[in-house]
This record gives sequence, C-alpha cells and structure tokens, in this order.
Amino acid sequence: MTTADVLVIGGGVIGASVAYHLLEQNPRLRVILLEREAEVGAGATSKATGGVRHQFSTEANIRLTLLSYPYFTRAQERFGRPVDFLAHGYLFVTASPPTLAGVARSVELQRALGVRSRMLAPGEMAPLLPALVTADLVGGSFCGDDGSADPYGLLQAFLSVARGRGLEVRTGEGVVAVEKGGQRVTGVRTARGAYAAPIVVDCAGPHADEIGALAGVDLPSKPFKRQVMVTEPLPGFPDMFPLIVDLDTGWYVHRQGASAVLMGGTDKDRQPGHDTTIDW
Ligand SMILES: Cc1cc2nc3c(=O)[nH]c(=O)nc-3n(C[C@H](O)[C@H](O)[C@H](O)COP(=O)(O)OP(=O)(O)OC[C@H]3O[C@@H](n4cnc5c(N)ncnc54)[C@H](O)[C@@H]3O)c2cc1C
Repeated sequence: MTTADVLVIGGGVIGASVAYHLLEQNPRLRVILLEREAEVGAGATSKATGGVRHQFSTEANIRLTLLSYPYFTRAQERFGRPVDFLAHGYLFVTASPPTLAGVARSVELQRALGVRSRMLAPGEMAPLLPALVTADLVGGSFCGDDGSADPYGLLQAFLSVARGRGLEVRTGEGVVAVEKGGQRVTGVRTARGAYAAPIVVDCAGPHADEIGALAGVDLPSKPFKRQVMVTEPLPGFPDMFPLIVDLDTGWYVHRQGASAVLMGGTDKDRQPGHDTTIDW
C-alpha cells in the first residue's frame, strides 16, 4: 500500500494544474498523480485547439479567464518556459438579431469586469480577415486579448515545476476502484496496487463521471464528441487572424501554423459518449 497526502487521478492539463497548485501552496505534501495511459496528456489536452478567451456570457467563466490569463502571458516567469501564447483575438459572429442582443449583454458584462471586448458591425470585421464573407451577418464581438496557447506545453510546464517540488507521476495506473470509509474517500485501487490518501482529486476529464461512479457519486459531467480538420497552407490567408466562432452553428475557424486553417465544431444533437471515430 502506497500512502500520499493527495492523490490526483488523471494526467491531463487539469490534473497537472491541481498538482502544481497543491505543491505551490505546500511543497511538503506528498502528491501522487495517477494516469491510466502510458504517458500524460493523451486525453483531451493533446487534442485541444488551445483557445484562451475572455468572451464568455457568465461572470464565473470571465473571472476564471482573468485569473488564469497571466499563466499564458507570463509563462516564462512562472514556469521558466513559454507556452506559445499568441493574442490573435477571438471574433464571434452571428446572422441572428436575438443572438446579437445576447452578445451585447455578454460584452457589457465582460467590460464591467475589465475585459477589453467590444461589439463590431459586419463592416468593421473585414480588416480582421479580408476573406471573411460578412454579407449575411448582423454583427458580433471581438476581444484582441483573446488568443491561443499550446495545451500540451502548458501541461508539461505545470508538471516540470511540480516534479521539482516532489510530485510523483505514475503512468499506466488506471484507477479501477475508489475506497471509502463511511462517507469519506480513503484511497484508490489500480490494476497494479493500492493507494491510501485522505484526499483524492478527480481530474479524469471526459472520464470524471466514471471516477465519480466508483465513489458512488453521480457527477453531472458528460463527454461530447468534437471534431477538427486542418487544411494545407492557404494562399492569401494572413499568418495571423482571429479565431472566428459562428455562434449560429458553433463552427469555428482558426489559424494553424503558417496560413493553414483549423476548423471544427460539435454536433449539438449528438448524444454523449466516448466514440472518437471521425465521421465527417
Ligand atoms: C478538439 C478539441 C478542441 C478543444 N479546444 C479547446 C480550446 O480551444 N480551448 C479550451 O479551453 N479547451 C478546449 N478543449 C477542451 C480541453 O481539451 C479540455 O477542457 C481539457 O483538455 C480537459 O483537461 P482534463 O485534464 O480535464 O482532461 P484530459 O486531458 O482528458 O485528461 C484526463 C486524463 O485522465 C486520464 N484518466 C481517465 N480515466 C482514468 C482512470 N480511471 N485512472 C487514471 N487516469 C484516468 C485520461 O487518460 C486523461 O489523461 C478542446 C477539446 C477538444 C477535444
């Protein structure tokens, strides 16, 4: 039986962040991170676009970005390495007047919290990406401080500092049972052995509800499939343009490398599940 102060289940960016912050608060803690796969970052983290935005419609989400933004812009200072953050901006567009009214309310909330977002008329969008067809749009919003970073780089940044403070990362350790004493969690079991700890943090991402079920807790978190595609470099596209989100469909378009374009979205009618086959 291995003992720890805290067990973190899941070696994605959230598990890495939790471990990093625990050890930043108290480097004397024994923190063990258990990852099911042979290496960390194999889940959603390494698939993510890396978008970082302030443009949300709820105060909680806006405040979360305000708190986390310096981790991207000042990564070198904090982690001793960059996370490739680029403030290319996010542009939200819509062809629907009611949706535009909602965007205006969100921008008002964002600005009240100190975010430098603003409403844009279709005619004001052309300088951001001349190839954008705006004829059917009624408007949108833009924040030039939004951007993107390298999610896997951020994961490794968290882990490298946390490892320096004593974090133990154990890969190939899938949690198969959560041990309890009364109402309290007392540890976990993997196929290889048992771990005891008074605190277990569920950072299993799209599998978080499965860990919850092992502990007898029904977590209201379900995974939804998202698919992305990347083009060859497109002549005529600038090296940098905003990440553009069509609010009416959820479809987004993003610069990828030199002049290539990444596009993606989530089919909102799809049922939750772990199927990762490509079907479009
Ligand atoms: C295509 C795509 C694009 C995205 N774009 C963005 C974006 O632009 N901006 C943004 O903010 N977010 C984006 N996301 C979402 C982002 O990827 C996730 O929110 C984030 O990576 C979640 O991190 P996580 O650590 O919670 O999950 P994960 O990275 O999935 O990590 C969970 C880990 O838990 C492990 N695990 C699972 N079960 C067990 C078990 N029983 N025992 C031990 N380990 C276990 C898994 O193997 C995995 O490594 C995108 C996601 C996708 C798929």
